[in-house]
Amino acid sequence: MLGRELDDHFRRASKHGLKVSTTTNGYWAVTEKSARERMERAADAGLGDITLSTGEMHAKFVPPERIVHAAAAAFDLGMQVHVAIEDFADTTFDWRWIVDAREIRERTPDPRLELFRRSWIPHADGVGRAVLRHSADDRRFRPDPVPGCGFIFDDLTVTPDLSLAACCGYPIESIPDLHLGSVANKTIQEVVEEAPDDFLKVMLHVAGPELILEFVKRFIPNYVLPVENVHMCQTCLHLHRDPVALTIVNEHRAEIESRIWELFDRKRARPTNHDRMAGAAG
Ligand code: SF4
Repeated sequence: MLGRELDDHFRRASKHGLKVSTTTNGYWAVTEKSARERMERAADAGLGDITLSTGEMHAKFVPPERIVHAAAAAFDLGMQVHVAIEDFADTTFDWRWIVDAREIRERTPDPRLELFRRSWIPHADGVGRAVLRHSADDRRFRPDPVPGCGFIFDDLTVTPDLSLAACCGYPIESIPDLHLGSVANKTIQEVVEEAPDDFLKVMLHVAGPELILEFVKRFIPNYVLPVENVHMCQTCLHLHRDPVALTIVNEHRAEIESRIWELFDRKRARPTNHDRMAGAAG
């Protein structure tokens, strides 16, 4: 959508010491040559990490060959490459086609080229007609622990209307509480610094939305958990739209606060994009 202007944004973010990443469906990688040319411009502007999304829904519009061209070009330029194959129970997309493609085979195994499947979920506000079913194995509510949100506090998103969001989750445009402020007339740094402390974000980072809802259920035994959810952003949306759950978290915050902060400090011992930005500004 931004065309060549995107490279200016990569360059600017990179100049501020940020780790620059992007997510794309790879529509621009029509041939190996055009993929290479596009990735050269992006790498020159500071892009170091790219996620390429494909799957049945994407492939209706963008041939998966382009994903393969883009992955190979980005990899050869030294980027960290993630190929995300959107998945659901009845998908007709054969992910092995990507794994077996020559350009991928020649570059794997290598930790810089990661291929993984992730659950394709409905639009937060009901846009779209696809009926998506998922395997019970993909559910987020299960006995083994699921991780907290690794994006909040580390990824920032500027939406097309110039709102700065605290993560890059699918439903970000539908969760006002995850928006930190407008960058129309302020820098990202200013908006981040002015954002109020938000304990819910800390909990999301440390525990994840599923554990938060299970915490709610301790106080409301008949609380109905969205056990069919297969993606943490689905549960995050559920949490943010449920005033009952938000009230319980708020009312019982004191009981878990010190433990959550302790876990948060431990998790934040590694540098994040926010830290890098503060360092570059200082
Ligand atoms: S779980 Fe919530 S905070 Fe984390 S990426 Fe998804 S929407 Fe954002």
